[in-house]
Amino acid sequence: MGHAALSISSTGAAEEAQQNLLPLKSSSSSSEIFPAKSETEQQRDVDMQWRARFSFAFGVAATIVACIALAFAFFSHRYGNQTIPSFDSDSDSVVGRWGFARPLKSLNKPAVILISTDGFRYGYHWKVPLPNINRLRFNGTEAVPGMIPVYPSLTFPNHYSIATGLYPAWHGIISNVFTDPTSEEKFHPGIIDQKWWLGEPIWESVVRNGLIAATFFWPGSDVSKGLWNCSLPYCRHYNQSVPFEDRVDTVLAYFDLPEEQRPSLITLYFEEPDHTGHQVGADDPHISEAITRIDQMVGRLIDGLDAKNVFDDVSIILLSDHGMVGTCDKKIIYLEDFEPWISIPRDWADELSPVLGLRPPSDVDVKEVYQNITEALNSGKVANSEFLQVYLKEDLPARLHYSKSERIQPIIGMVAEGYKVEMKRSSAKECGGAHGYDNEFLSMHPIFIAHGPQFGSGRQIPSFTNIEVYNLIASILNIEGAANNGTFSLANTALLPSR
Ligand SMILES: [Zn+2]
Repeated sequence: MGHAALSISSTGAAEEAQQNLLPLKSSSSSSEIFPAKSETEQQRDVDMQWRARFSFAFGVAATIVACIALAFAFFSHRYGNQTIPSFDSDSDSVVGRWGFARPLKSLNKPAVILISTDGFRYGYHWKVPLPNINRLRFNGTEAVPGMIPVYPSLTFPNHYSIATGLYPAWHGIISNVFTDPTSEEKFHPGIIDQKWWLGEPIWESVVRNGLIAATFFWPGSDVSKGLWNCSLPYCRHYNQSVPFEDRVDTVLAYFDLPEEQRPSLITLYFEEPDHTGHQVGADDPHISEAITRIDQMVGRLIDGLDAKNVFDDVSIILLSDHGMVGTCDKKIIYLEDFEPWISIPRDWADELSPVLGLRPPSDVDVKEVYQNITEALNSGKVANSEFLQVYLKEDLPARLHYSKSERIQPIIGMVAEGYKVEMKRSSAKECGGAHGYDNEFLSMHPIFIAHGPQFGSGRQIPSFTNIEVYNLIASILNIEGAANNGTFSLANTALLPSR
C-alpha cells in the first residue's frame, strides 16, 4: 500500500510539472505575434520559466526517488521473506536463497548429535561471547525467537516430547512429579519403569529401523522399551556426577568405531544452565559463567569432530527444553489465604508451582472445589489473586493440548510469569528462577540451533513447537518414524533439498 500511494503521487507531480511547462513553451513561441512585453512582464516570464524548470526538475527528481523507493521496497520485501521464510513457502524460494544440501565427505550415512543444554533460555546467547555456539549459529540454522516448549514448560515433559514428537498428554510424562490416579503410584524423575513412558522415543525408532542409537543421558533414555535396552556401550543410566568433559569425549569416541558399530543418533545432555538458573534467576552474572561452560563443551565437541574430519558431515542439533524466569519481589499466591472459602490440604496438590495441579480425593466433589477456589480468587481478599488462573482441566485453552490424560490433575492453576504458589507464608528463600509457565511466554522459549550438511548457513527460521523435532531427525536419518503429534513442516522448511 505504501509504495502504491507513493507511486501515484509522484506520477501526479511529474504530470503537474509538465502541464506547467507546456503553456510557457506556447507563449514563448508565440511571442513574435503578440506585442513586445514590458520589463516587468519579461521578468515575470523569466520567473515563470524558472518556476517551470524547477517544477520540472522537481518532478523528475520525485519520479527517480519514487523508482528507487519502489525498487527498495520490492527487494526488501523479497529478501525479508527469504530471511525468515514461512513454513508454507515453496521449496523453489528456499532453494533459490539457501542452495542444496552438501554431500557427505567422510561418513557413508547421516549422523545426528542431539544436544540438550537444560534451561538454556533463548537470548542467553547475547549475554556473553559464545564463540563455539555462535559458530553453529552463524553457519547453521536458528529458530527465532527460539523454540516453543510444550506445556507445562518443565524438564521431563519437554525432553520426552522432543524425543517422541508427542504432547505430554499422549506420551504420559505430564510433569516432573505426578500421581497416577488408577494405581495411586507416584512418578518422579528417577523412575524408569516403562509403564509410565508411552510413545516411541527417537532412539527406539532408530534401532527399529536397523540403525544404532547412543544416548549419553536424556530423560527416558534409560527406560527399556521395545528393541531399546539401555546398556553399554551405547547407553548409560543417569548419573549427574559424570563430568561434562567425559560425556563429550565418549560421544567423540563413537566416531573412532568401525562404521558398522557407529551410532547414527547420539544424544548428549548437560544439566546447565538450568541448575544455576534455579538458584539465581535468569539475569544474574552466574548465568554467564554457566553458559560459558556449555560453550566450552560445544567447542570441545566441534574440535574433536574437526580432528576426526567429520564435523562437516555430522548434523548437530543444539537445543534446550525450556527457558527460565526470575522469581522474586513477593510474587506469591498463598493457598492459606483461601481458607475462608476452602481449605486445601497439601496432599491435594499433586503439583504446587508454577503449575498448580489439584487432585482432591475421590469422595470430594471436584466442581465444588473449583467453585470455592474461584470465589476465593474473586473475593479481593487473596493476595495476588489476579495472577492465578484456575481451570477445570477440560476447560484449559486448547492450544495447551493439556487435558487428554487421566494423569493430568482435574483442576489446573496457571500462574503469571515469575509468580509462585505456596501453601503458607514462611521464611524460605524467596528469590531464584523457575520455569513451567505458559509456553507462550518468551521467557520460556529455549534455543534451537542446527548445523550440518542439510542446514542452511546463517539462516533463521520461525519458532516452532518442539514436537516437530522428532520428524526432523527421522527425516535427516531417512528412517520411518512412529505416529506422533508433529508434522513435517519443520523438516520441509529447515532441511535443504538434495541435488
Ligand atoms: Zn529443564
